[in-house]
Amino acid sequence: MSEFKNILLLACDALIYFVVLAALFRGRKRFGLGLFFCALGVMHFIETYLASIFYVSLPLGIATSPGSAVLFTGKVLMLLLVYIREDASVVRQPIYGLLIGNFLMVALGFVMRQHDLVALTPGRTTDFGFLDEMGALMVWGTTLLYLDCLMIILIYERTRNWFGGNALLRIGLSGAAVLTFDQIGFWSGLHLLTGAPVSVLVGGWIAKMGAIAFYTPLMAGYLAWFERSGTEQARPRRLADVFEMLTYRERYEDLLARSGRDALTGALDRGQLESEGRRIVDNAALAGRPASLLLIDIDHFKEFNDRFGHAAGDQVLKRITQDIVATVRSTDPVFRYGGEEFVVICDAMPSSTALALGERIRRQIAAGTGSGPRVTASVGLATCAEDAPDYSSLFMVADKRLYQAKAAGRNCVVGSRATGGDTVRLVLAG
Ligand code: GH3
Ligand code: MG
Ligand code: MG
Repeated sequence: MSEFKNILLLACDALIYFVVLAALFRGRKRFGLGLFFCALGVMHFIETYLASIFYVSLPLGIATSPGSAVLFTGKVLMLLLVYIREDASVVRQPIYGLLIGNFLMVALGFVMRQHDLVALTPGRTTDFGFLDEMGALMVWGTTLLYLDCLMIILIYERTRNWFGGNALLRIGLSGAAVLTFDQIGFWSGLHLLTGAPVSVLVGGWIAKMGAIAFYTPLMAGYLAWFERSGTEQARPRRLADVFEMLTYRERYEDLLARSGRDALTGALDRGQLESEGRRIVDNAALAGRPASLLLIDIDHFKEFNDRFGHAAGDQVLKRITQDIVATVRSTDPVFRYGGEEFVVICDAMPSSTALALGERIRRQIAAGTGSGPRVTASVGLATCAEDAPDYSSLFMVADKRLYQAKAAGRNCVVGSRATGGDTVRLVLAG
């Protein structure tokens, strides 16, 4: 009779655990994912503690621990849920956080046990043997958890080919496979440390499979009812890409794309210009400060590519980016606008200073560095508010002046005179 009561209690534990964590996850847009991650992380200690000493009996002479069956299995599935609804770049954060946090806890435990202790109450002494066992189990369990998390996500992704959109089958299968692996691994550690018998291995495995069978429909139901809209990753992903993302080894280009930088030159990309550039100019306009925009375009670059090849052209683009970055103030962002076009936005810079800066950039590019073939560039510049009241019209004025610089023979800067209206001032190559 007490065995059935235990099953009922375990089901209760699992239901409470799932409902609370799923609710926190559901509320992530409103409260942030930190809430969910902290709650999930806090469970890890009690989980290991229970798995080392707290076992209950189930039918067929099986014994299991709520730490393994309910909490550990639940956590692995919760991390899978994060991957399904968010992304590998999100779920790797708690995966590594748990790994590092647990190692930190064991390291601190090791230092702390060097203390000379005072007894609080007679008869209550610290059980170092137990702490040591816990520490070793924690390290082993944490390492396994790390492998489990990578594996469950990769298997889940792999099963897309077999079961497509059937979340129930995919979660069930990946969960069962990974927890089987985990049970064998964890029991081996437990066996070495505490001499746990084979019945614990089998009992624990059956309990974990029971937990998977319990959680899987809950999770599939949650996904179907509460997470229908949004960012489901519909497209198949290369397993190698998922793995690299999970282990923080995604390609450099992806990192740059996420950071808003252009992969070839490292300059800020066009998306950044649209948001950041616009913000700087419009803020300056509001505050009544001047802000200047320089549009720089390499001369006859197509010809250069044709003569020296695209690889040499790429080197020039990199070098010119460095020249521009080295010439402007450290606070002026440099954007790659198009193939061989760059934009610099200079907050609080009046037109006369911007003209001098444009000329320094032009000269720096024309002077070149090293022994490679030389290129020149033309620059169009405009200043807010004297040339235009906002970012979009400022860009159009700078673009018009760039054309004028090209028409005037290239390798020159075209800006306005502060008072000159449409008057064009040319600073020709000297
Ligand atoms: P202009 O003086 O009128 O600006 O002449 P241009 O040849 O520079 O003008 P255009 O804009 O027609 O050509 C731009 C060339 O830049 C075309 C393309 O071959 C080259 N280009 C664009 N992006 C890259 C790149 O990433 N690498 C290399 N090597 N070349 C590029
Ligand atoms: Mg161009
Ligand atoms: Mg050009």
